[in-house]
Formats: sequence, C-alpha cells, structure tokens
Amino acid sequence: MNRFSWQRAVIKVGSALIAPDGDECSGRYLLSLARFITASREAGKEIIVVSSGSVAAGRSKVKVRHNASIAEKQAMAAIGQNLMMANWQRFFDFPCAQVLLTADDLRDRTRYVNIKNTLREILNHHALPIVNENDTVAVNELKVGDNDNLGAYTALVAQADTLIICSDIDGLFTADPRKDSRATLIPQVTKIDKSIYDLAGGAGTTLGTGGMRTKIEAADKCTSSGIQTLIVNGRKGETFDALLEGKVPGTLFNANSTPASAKRLWLTHTLRTAGRIEVDAGAKDALVLKGASLLPSGVTHIEGNFAQGDAVEIINDGRVIAKGLSLYNKKDLCLIKGKKSKDIASVLGYETAEVVVHRDDMVLL
Ligand code: GLU
Repeated sequence: MNRFSWQRAVIKVGSALIAPDGDECSGRYLLSLARFITASREAGKEIIVVSSGSVAAGRSKVKVRHNASIAEKQAMAAIGQNLMMANWQRFFDFPCAQVLLTADDLRDRTRYVNIKNTLREILNHHALPIVNENDTVAVNELKVGDNDNLGAYTALVAQADTLIICSDIDGLFTADPRKDSRATLIPQVTKIDKSIYDLAGGAGTTLGTGGMRTKIEAADKCTSSGIQTLIVNGRKGETFDALLEGKVPGTLFNANSTPASAKRLWLTHTLRTAGRIEVDAGAKDALVLKGASLLPSGVTHIEGNFAQGDAVEIINDGRVIAKGLSLYNKKDLCLIKGKKSKDIASVLGYETAEVVVHRDDMVLL
C-alpha cells in the first residue's frame, strides 16, 4: 500500500455511506470513520467533513406521488439536514458545526473570505465543521451539484493538504469492477490526463449525484493546487485502520506541488494586485522575522482601491515585502490604520478579523 502523511484533511462522505438505504441517515458505516476522526484529532490533525445525506434523510418525510420536483427535493433537504447533522453529532463529544455552501458563495470574493475565516475559527475552537451544499437555496445554476466537487472546493478554501473521498468502492479501477471481473485497482495516479478520465465512465449509485467522474474532477482540482487526493472504500472498517497507520487502502492521486508552493504561485502570479499597504518597521519585522499576521496598528499608508478579499502588496521603505489578501476594503482600512485591533469594532461597527492580512493568506517576497 502507498503511504501518505497529512495535517489538515477534508473527508467527503457520500450518500452510499451515510444513507445506505436511501431514505434515512444511518450510523451503520460511520463508526470506524468516526473513530478515525476522533483519533486523528487527538493526534493534533485537523479534519473537515463534507457530508451528503440531507435529501435522503428528509425523503420519507415528504410524500411525493411520482418523481420528486426540485422544490420537493429542496424540502427534503431542509427537513433532512438537521437529521443528518444529528446523525453525526451522536458519534462525538465535541461540537459539530453546520456549514452550508453554494457555488455562488465560493465565487463571491467577500463570501469566500468569510467562509475561509469561519472554517478557520471553527477549527480553532476544536469543533468539527460538517459542510454540505445549501440545497434549499441552490437551483442548478447556483449549485456545485455534487459533493465530490464540493469536497474539492472545501479543501481549497480551507487550505487543506489532503482530500479523502469515502465511497462504496475500493478506488479507481482499470475497468468498472461491477461489470468486468478482470478489473484491477489502480493504487497510485501521478498525473490525471484523458486516459484517467476515460476510466471513470458514468455515474455510480443512483443515490448520490456523483460517480467516478466527479471524483476524478475533484482529484484534478485538488492535485493541481498541491492537495493530494484519496479515494477509499468507507464501508470497510479496515480502511480507517490503514489510514490511521498512514497507509492508503485505495487510490492515491499525488499532488503536483506542495500546497505552500501552489499558494505562492496563486498569490504571486495569478492574483491581480488591487492595492498597496505601507507598513512601519515594527510590522515588517513581525511579518518577516516572526511569521506574524499584519495588524492594523502597523499600517501607515494605503493606495489603490480594493475590496475585501482582494490581493494587496505590503510595502516597507519602498520595497514590496509580501503579498496577501486584505480582510478589509480600502475605505475601512483607512479608518482603522494605525489603530489597535481591539478598536476595530468601535470604529467600523463590525470586525471581520483582528488582523488586516492573515498569515495563511500571505506570501513573503
Ligand atoms: N447535497 C446532497 C445531499 O445532502 C448530496 C449531493 C451528493 O451526494 O453529491 O443530499
């Protein structure tokens, strides 16, 4: 078996695991996974769950004659979402935190930053974030559509190093193992190209929206951003014993780079600089020597017109020392520059964060 190491993982749990009978959530396949989550957290690792199951959990509560309409499915999701959350909570002594997202939230800069901050804060407080698509508001064009890709977006926004997709099959095979007895498991994929997509075929179970194809799409998004991706069989208890030992009992898609270098590339080259923030010598030393975040107290001058979540250059003595995402827009930053973090709320009437640019969203240049 291949080995892997990780620090922050997103674990995607599909309907086949949490709602194996299709009409309610069950704990049948979750016990070993829950033990894995608890043991990993005790070992100092961080986990975010992306869970399906709301539609299945609400299915029996919404009587429909024929095929369910979109609104009927949305009603199922609304009724089922808290049943799904309750199904998770009974496995843990620590709190589970419900996070509902749509594709639109991930595209919108301000909301993206807020999602990132919220996930960071939930993890800081040792709760377990459980993410699902906000099915009640999202019609097709607003949707991510399947939780495999939602898992990938969550891994990106949470700056995870690993995405673990728990399915009801052992991994990626050379052919569909349900149809072809000669199909063998592919333990490792170093490059996702057309030949890999060709192996994926169509959708899998009728319950979830994804099949192997959406899993490959998710792996593609993640590995190109430095996030390794695993497809494992979550129905087998031994899967999680192996994962705890750092072994991959399924398919490992290697990351093309490290998350840090992918982030550096993205921040330095992909993101357009929308403004410049000048900082004093104390702030420069804190950033460069201590690996600190940028506080409003160190900001001396602001240029450009940027919105919350835009990329800005951080300047000291005429030299660009860093680039990062500003948690405040230009107008509000002008009001809090030079002030103490504790005064942000009284000056602005709100506080996004105590820092102007968080360390996680910054590269030193
Ligand atoms: N959001 C859907 C649900 O919770 C699941 C989508 C999927 O499994 O891909 O029921």
